[in-house]
Amino acid sequence: MKLACPISQFRVAPDKSVKLKKTATKIDPLYTSDDDYESKLASYREEIAHWQSILYAGQQESVLLIFQGMDSAGKGGAIRHVMSGINPQGCQVHSFGRPSEEELAHDYLWRCLLRLPRRGMIGIFDRSYYEEVLVVRVKPEVLAGQNLPADLVKHKNFWKDRFHDIRQHEAYLHRNGTKIIKFFLHVSADEQRERLLARIDDPEKNWKFRLGDLDCRSHWADFQKAYQDCLEQTSTTESPWYIVPADDKRNARLIISQIILQNMQKMELQLPSASPALIQDLATARKLLQDEVAER
Ligand code: AMP
Ligand code: MG
Repeated sequence: MKLACPISQFRVAPDKSVKLKKTATKIDPLYTSDDDYESKLASYREEIAHWQSILYAGQQESVLLIFQGMDSAGKGGAIRHVMSGINPQGCQVHSFGRPSEEELAHDYLWRCLLRLPRRGMIGIFDRSYYEEVLVVRVKPEVLAGQNLPADLVKHKNFWKDRFHDIRQHEAYLHRNGTKIIKFFLHVSADEQRERLLARIDDPEKNWKFRLGDLDCRSHWADFQKAYQDCLEQTSTTESPWYIVPADDKRNARLIISQIILQNMQKMELQLPSASPALIQDLATARKLLQDEVAER
């Protein structure tokens, strides 16, 4: 399928410096009308579903999609709209909120490791271990609540080491057949303000509102700085970050679909070929089924 835009423009090249202030939160739409948007999204979804069924049949590789962004950046909506055509048996979504007591009693990767996709599956993380270098970094009280030994927290390389751990963890997963694709949904502060107001004003959206969202908003610059560092430190050739302009939700969904699609196309997935034993079993089964009719 011909894709509408080169996705490389959104990929964070390893070791490249990232300037979020200078990175677009909005670009020209990839659709020309409501109908055009719906039909483009539908065709991308169909093709993602096609590759997903081959991934599932192969039972060798897995795909992990990680979504990060400020509150109301559109993570949940993107996951719903882009993945809705996928066979639910082959796809699992997990949202990571504030850690529970049990989760805090373990190392920070633990709860995410438990949710990694099996071979053949697409796993989707709505937030992830990346929160550990984002909200945990921006808000000292969150770090203080993690019960880490004081000398470790004070270490001058504390954050640098966390980035190193995450890179190693992802490299390990890559060597185990997991393709990781990471999306930062980049919204402007103005757009977030509009969306938070909509959550307050629209009764159907009230349930999404948390007062804590305003607290995070009040640390906007610190979060952007933390995201910047994170994108620079953890985008690798094997497990790249993509910065998705997210002020236009529909455009963001088209971009995300294309990124998933191109990455899955590159995996060169193939239906497994039947082994000699299976070919033998198929012949036996055919004979048994055909004999049923003959015996009637
Ligand atoms: P939401 O995605 O709107 O359900 O919000 C989940 C909240 O959980 C966000 O405010 C996140 O910053 C917060 N959160 C996620 N992971 C962690 C973590 N490891 N430590 C503290 N807060 C977290
Ligand atoms: Mg929220």
